[in-house]
Amino acid sequence: MTRPSRAVGAAMLERSRRVAVHAPTGRDGPLAVELLGRWRLDAVLCPDIETLCSTIAGGIGVVLIAEEALTPQTRDRLFSSLDAQPSWSDVPLIVLTAEGELSRSITRGIEAAAERGNVVLLERPIRVGMLVTAVRSALRARERQFEIRDYLAERERLLESERAARADAEEANRSKSRFLAVMSHELRTPLNAIAGYSDLLDLGIHGELSAAQREALRRIQKSERHLLGLIEDVLTYARVETGQLKFDLVTLDTLELVTTTEALVAPQILSRGLRLDLSGCEPGVSVEVDRDKAQQILVNLVTNAIKFTPPGGSIALACVADGSSVRLTVTDTGIGIPADKLGTIFEPFVQVDTRLTRTHEGVGLGLAISRDLARAMGGDLTVDSRVGEGSCFTLTLRRVATPGPRLHLEAASAK
Ligand code: ADP
Repeated sequence: MTRPSRAVGAAMLERSRRVAVHAPTGRDGPLAVELLGRWRLDAVLCPDIETLCSTIAGGIGVVLIAEEALTPQTRDRLFSSLDAQPSWSDVPLIVLTAEGELSRSITRGIEAAAERGNVVLLERPIRVGMLVTAVRSALRARERQFEIRDYLAERERLLESERAARADAEEANRSKSRFLAVMSHELRTPLNAIAGYSDLLDLGIHGELSAAQREALRRIQKSERHLLGLIEDVLTYARVETGQLKFDLVTLDTLELVTTTEALVAPQILSRGLRLDLSGCEPGVSVEVDRDKAQQILVNLVTNAIKFTPPGGSIALACVADGSSVRLTVTDTGIGIPADKLGTIFEPFVQVDTRLTRTHEGVGLGLAISRDLARAMGGDLTVDSRVGEGSCFTLTLRRVATPGPRLHLEAASAK
């Protein structure tokens, strides 16, 4: 348990050690205060119920009350003042009972007090030692309540600062995403002009181009497309993060998703000297996805596999369906990912080895976007990989139940 700070602790101890004594008739009240004082116990005499209640409200360790004070009116007033205490507080009551018969209403008062739980009855005449012991043990129990109160307050303070820190971080993240969205949007505009004027030059609008000029123009166009791709990635990421991306969920045949991907990546597979194998993708197995976004994820995974697999290697695209989901796995025989990096590659702007990836296109957003998209569609994206052996990315998508074969009961029972 966290200890309260020193200042809080001192104030807490002071209040949790005070004994409020209420014995309005006879000499028991002043006597108890004097006796407790001798034992270095801080006792205050409360001559009337209102003083007792305001003392309780100000913070008290124990209430020592004489039985004869528990008339119906006093009892109600006392109980309502105890009920007004915070939830952690359970003020101990020590009731000094009297010898002999008391009026029935007072006896009922003691019973009602005893029902509250934290009550000790001490029958008079009481030995001093017994009174002091009872008060001390009640005070010790009370001290624990104050400690719990301070612990709860400290915990609430920590939770509150944690909540505030999380809200700040989320706001900072939203600002970052807004900045990225605006910046990438602004960058796209001049890029359109570069693309447009390059196309005009390419078309010979401004005169015939020499071979060297055409080669330079091709480089400009290639870089423009590359830059546009990066900016689109940043824009998509910012849109996903700020929740601006709309999902148009449809029922899509997994086989269609896979064959379209195959067609889109075929030229790259060929030019890199790789092989792409498909397996397990049967027609009629459907998923609920946004067509373009699911396609984007799958193309991204296969494009990564192509980027990080040396020529001669192979990439396998497989489908595994169960009752509620379809898992699409993209397995390559490439360079693999170190175990300690597997947790971070889905973070934005993370690339495992910048020296290596500098030679590849990308800014480390593809997987972050892909996983966000997969999750937004009720699926997920995970990875398993070994350095030097290859990687396997698993895209899980929500399967759409296809109606099974119908039982024709009449026909069956007629047989
Ligand atoms: P980028 O667009 O820069 O490739 P990604 O988010 O798609 O960004 O990937 C992040 C990093 O994860 C890559 O830079 C690479 O280091 C690693 N990575 C992704 N896919 C593979 C893979 N199939 N094999 C090895 N490393 C991979």
